[in-house]
Formats: sequence, C-alpha cells, structure tokens
Amino acid sequence: MNKKGLLVVLSGPSGCGKGTVLKELLTKKEGLFLSVSATTRRPRPGEIDGQSYYFLSRDRFLELVDNGGMLEYACYCDNYYGTPKDSVEAKRAQGIDVILEIEVQGAMQIKQKCPDAVMVFVMPPSMAELARRLVDRNTEDEETVSRRMAKAVEEMRHAKEYDYIVVNDTVENAVENLWGIVLAEKLTVRQLGGFVDEVLAQV
Ligand code: 5GP
Repeated sequence: MNKKGLLVVLSGPSGCGKGTVLKELLTKKEGLFLSVSATTRRPRPGEIDGQSYYFLSRDRFLELVDNGGMLEYACYCDNYYGTPKDSVEAKRAQGIDVILEIEVQGAMQIKQKCPDAVMVFVMPPSMAELARRLVDRNTEDEETVSRRMAKAVEEMRHAKEYDYIVVNDTVENAVENLWGIVLAEKLTVRQLGGFVDEVLAQV
C-alpha cells in the first residue's frame, strides 16, 4: 500500500508548552519526522544549527523564499521563520508523517496550499498559566516577554481556524491526545481509500 505521509501542523502561543509536548511525543512514539525550520533569529543557548533550526542570515533566508524553497514563511517578533519545502515533500512521499511546529500566519498558508494538512492548535489551560509559563521560561527580557504575551493572545484568536484543539493541562494528557489525533488521521478514507481499492482489485 503506497500512501503519502500525513502533514501535521502544530501551533500554539509561545509558553503553551507545545515544544515540550512535541519533544515527548517524538521520544515516546515512532515514525514521525519533525521538520527543521529556517530562521533569522539568533540561536538561544544550547540550540544547534541544523537540529533546532537552520540559522540563516536575512539575505540567505529571503533568497530561499525567492527561489521557491519555502513551503511557508512568516515574520514573527521581527524575525523570519520558514519551512524548507524539499525535506517535507520527500518524507511525505516516502509515507513518513511530518510535523511542522509553526506559528499561525505560516499555518494559514499551509491550510491554503495543502488542504489535506491536519491542523492542531495547542491551548494553555488558562491565561494565568500561560503568563506563568512565559515568565518562568526566563530566556528573554521583560519587553520580549510582554510582546510574546500580546502575540499569544493574538494567536489564540485563530485557534478555531484549526481542526483540533489540544489543551496542555499536563504534558502526558496533551501527548496522548495529540497521538490520538495522528492515529485517527491515519485511518481516514483519504488515507486508506487506496487500500480499499487494492483489496477490491483482488476480486
Ligand atoms: P521560537 O523563536 O520561540 O523558537 O519560535 C517562535 C515562533 O515561531 C513559534 O511560534 C514557532 O512555532 C514559530 N516557528 C518556528 N518555525 C517556524 C516556521 O518554519 N514557520 C513559521 N511560520 N513559524 C515557525
């Protein structure tokens, strides 16, 4: 059975914990490929070029955009972020499920371009919890934190444009729910219609 891998788009405001949920999902469950994005922002301590992101200059990033090398891209808090097209398409063609962890503007571009994408939005359990997590993260200065809080509210206003909502009350619950979505999406007629045809062809 030759079927294309899923394209799962995961968004959620900064501080909702989607990075942790995703990391846990990738550790616990096999067969998912997390796309490595390109960005013009500076690496944070511990981030590795080619693993966390491809850290690019602005000129190089925009050159890739001009050459049609990005599946989507967006400017977020004064930096560009984008999904390199080739690796995503190659993995999906091999039947491997691909996850994009991207912000809302880019996610909406994917929704337009790839109608079969599975759109998932991670919500914090409350505003108070989101604020707490943003401050606790402590990797940015106060001004950046408050800018990210405003951005988080703006992003959550788009949550209903997605297909699924995962509430990150505990990482464990969120991982199970996210995995449940992936499993269900692998069983849709869109995914398995070809299998039905193959079986019927044996008649
Ligand atoms: P951070 O700077 O905290 O790593 O990421 C900031 C935001 O950029 C997050 O919401 C993250 O999901 C988003 N992001 C990361 N990679 C991409 C990408 O390739 N495209 C888009 N549109 N957003 C991305």
